[in-house]
Amino acid sequence: MLVYHGVMGLLNALLPESCDVVVIGGGVSGASITYQLAKRGVDVLLLEAAQLARGASGRNGGLIDGAADPSSPINELYLRASELFPALAEELDTDIEYIRDGSLQILLDTDPDIEETHADFQAHLDLGRPVRWCDRDEVLEMSLLFPENIIGGWLRYEDGQVNPLLLVYALAEAAARAGAKVRQHTPVLGLTTSGDRITTVKTADGDVACGQVIVAMEPWCRPFLAELGLEAPVLPQRGQIFVTEPLPPMMTIAALYGNSPNPYIYWRQTKHGSLTIGGCRTVDTHGDWMLGSPGPSTSLDIQKMILETIVRAHPGIRNVNLIRWWAGVMGFTPDRLPVLGRTERYPNLITAFGFCPNGILLAPLTGRLIADVVTETEPEIALEQFRLERFAEAAASAD
Ligand SMILES: Cc1cc2nc3c(=O)[nH]c(=O)nc-3n(C[C@H](O)[C@H](O)[C@H](O)COP(=O)(O)OP(=O)(O)OC[C@H]3O[C@@H](n4cnc5c(N)ncnc54)[C@H](O)[C@@H]3O)c2cc1C
Repeated sequence: MLVYHGVMGLLNALLPESCDVVVIGGGVSGASITYQLAKRGVDVLLLEAAQLARGASGRNGGLIDGAADPSSPINELYLRASELFPALAEELDTDIEYIRDGSLQILLDTDPDIEETHADFQAHLDLGRPVRWCDRDEVLEMSLLFPENIIGGWLRYEDGQVNPLLLVYALAEAAARAGAKVRQHTPVLGLTTSGDRITTVKTADGDVACGQVIVAMEPWCRPFLAELGLEAPVLPQRGQIFVTEPLPPMMTIAALYGNSPNPYIYWRQTKHGSLTIGGCRTVDTHGDWMLGSPGPSTSLDIQKMILETIVRAHPGIRNVNLIRWWAGVMGFTPDRLPVLGRTERYPNLITAFGFCPNGILLAPLTGRLIADVVTETEPEIALEQFRLERFAEAAASAD
């Protein structure tokens, strides 16, 4: 795979003077939206401030896994998105290292949250979600390195894994091949309006007249939309990841351990053998994720918590070498639902952010839903509950 296609290659189009649809933000959401629009023959331009996947999309765990409060509307999105992944993996030219072997929330006999984990599992089972309980012997077959005191685990058998970096580039390349213009290293500086319409996207390289604009910039949306008088309550949450040296095959599923407020971690073995270990999300207080900064930094207290927890949950890797670690920032909304659809104030401005910890999982669906909005097609899932205006309405009714 080519990650950088030269100065004017496939992922570095010339900046056009006008384009029907401009997508801002070259993470997995922007790339997926651009791909779906290009497939429908829409004249679309994707603008990324740095390189594609520079945000959370290139810094995450790669789990296609979603378990929320079982009554949350997000579950409908999770289920539909995970159904869409196999077909997407097939149609992209790149091997995105997609596998669908499930994910397993493990439970040890020393855990303080045994009842809570069982209750969570039961609630999902009662709602007919694709889950089942695995006893100790079955769990130990999934990885010999789980600890002796494991009780069992809750298997979400439709979950999977993907290489998120390959996914973003594969989507962007497929979009470009289908006719989209994809341009990196082009921060959008602002939008020009006329009445209730966005007319122009401003960049340092020139302005682009546009018919519709999609903001897919996760926490960067907040200051950006504030310039237009729109409040987007999306806050940065920092997650951290470790990667081990490549190891012989040792697990077929992605594993999850712990329940908030206890440390929550996840880990999986990638195609080339490394374990990717992440978790312990915290509200961001560093602010070093803004454009032009070196990028989000790791913090020792969280790293220590992740490593202590993984050694408890997967002691067989105690002596394995770590080769890389990093942090990333994702966008969290107060109700943990994404913000999808047209804004009321500017009907040709469309939002796609607030994916909380699951933007990779949701990406295939995000692309389709937003392409439906742009092309004025009835979306396959009603978007009413994901409108930006819900936050202001909730605040007004609380007054
Ligand atoms: C440590 C960690 C682990 C995670 N694990 C998982 C997981 O296992 N599974 C999962 O589903 N999700 C996971 N997530 C969440 C997931 O990574 C995100 O939800 C998803 O990547 C969001 O994608 P996005 O495209 O919406 O935003 P981003 O990937 O953040 O992309 C936004 C892009 O907008 C660009 N941008 C910002 N401002 C401008 C501007 N003015 N002009 C142009 N471009 C701009 C940024 O440079 C950035 O590239 C994790 C996240 C982290 C940090």
